[in-house]
Amino acid sequence: MTTLDSKLQDVYDEVLGRNAGEQEFHQAVREVLESLGPVVSKHPEYVDAAVIRRICEPERQIIFRVPWTDDAGAVQLNRGFRVEFNSALGPYKGGLRFHPSVYLGIVKFLGFEQVFKNSLTGMPIGGGKGGSDFDPKGRSDAEVMRFCQSFMTELHRHIGEYTDVPAGDIGVGGREIGYLFGQYKRITNRYESGVLTGKGLSWGGSLVRTEATGYGTVFFVDEILKTSGDSFDGKKVVVSGSGNVAIYAVEKVHQLGGAVVACSDSAGYVVDEDGIDLELLKDVKEVRRARISEYADARPGARYVEGGSVWDVPCDIALPCATQNEIDEPEAIALVKGGAKIVAEGANMPCTPVAVRTFADAGVVFAPGKAANAGGVATSALEMQQNASRDAWSFEHTEERLAEIMRGIHHRCLTTADDYDVPGNYVAGANIAGFIKVADAMIALGV
Ligand code: GLU
Repeated sequence: MTTLDSKLQDVYDEVLGRNAGEQEFHQAVREVLESLGPVVSKHPEYVDAAVIRRICEPERQIIFRVPWTDDAGAVQLNRGFRVEFNSALGPYKGGLRFHPSVYLGIVKFLGFEQVFKNSLTGMPIGGGKGGSDFDPKGRSDAEVMRFCQSFMTELHRHIGEYTDVPAGDIGVGGREIGYLFGQYKRITNRYESGVLTGKGLSWGGSLVRTEATGYGTVFFVDEILKTSGDSFDGKKVVVSGSGNVAIYAVEKVHQLGGAVVACSDSAGYVVDEDGIDLELLKDVKEVRRARISEYADARPGARYVEGGSVWDVPCDIALPCATQNEIDEPEAIALVKGGAKIVAEGANMPCTPVAVRTFADAGVVFAPGKAANAGGVATSALEMQQNASRDAWSFEHTEERLAEIMRGIHHRCLTTADDYDVPGNYVAGANIAGFIKVADAMIALGV
């Protein structure tokens, strides 16, 4: 662990004291504070105005009961969360995660990351996150609908296009956003398109939003490759996960001339040396909502490995697109041994601090999620723009805007890293650039 400057250590101690037991939140805060040493020496005003202390404390945290009836008629109970972290740059913006692992500490870590990520995009959006410990796996459409309706019955009083704009995350896709939007509209009697993003194309959604996180991550890696005159051409890529982020990362890698040779789900992974067959992957995961093992069953030449680590598969580029802390020291060592030269986070915080240090020691370029996966939320902001102007852009125009935003984020990371004498350090560049914009706005807006 890097030692913190004493003022930053005080902030970290306060965070530990106020948020006992929230390990993921502590990890996310510490990671940012470790980058802010040079900022504090150059700009004492951020300490004087307690901006760093304030930025670590959410503006509002909402926890609520979500009762719903299952198909057998039994009443089920879950817990809902919305953490409205920071609104200095715009309405709170960030996804909803439905997964049994969700508790306040997960929502706070994601909300905190979102503040810096959203700032980095250059768009006028603050940061927030929400979700529930509800597990959609194995639930019928009708059960998911009743859960979403109950969730929105409480959430609706806290959100709005100028207040807080949720979207999807793990376990929340187009189907869930549809049920949530329907209930919001029913309760409020307002067709307020800008209250949620990730909507369906025929009712206010944006082209490219579904693809945006995966595409954006690959655009970001393409920018990294270009800094050394390289490209995706002929590169071997391994992706973890097989959800929305992973699927569209695979698609864009293939379009840019690379080959994704492995992907995974929580039960195991598939290796397909000929390159993942995208149509089959989409059919298994998006249409059938089945396990990744069914991919190998249907594809000659592919093999399925039950359990184990997808990071044992040698590659040039690794894109962790599953979930937090999936790459710890052993997985990072396996990646280095397997020849990985670039690791870019498609998921939020999939690499532990030890893994990130292992990459740095081995000279592997590491792109943190708040920069590399910002394409999803950036395209949500494009969806909000289209909703506000009652317009619908073409796929080509929206994708070009996304590519331009990812180039901008990449540029901001590198120039900021240069300004603070940590050249080529994407972690420091992303944290410092993301922080300064929010901090300056907080100072301008007063205490
Ligand atoms: N859940 C996504 C993220 O982690 C997107 C959030 C949004 O579009 O608001 O950035």
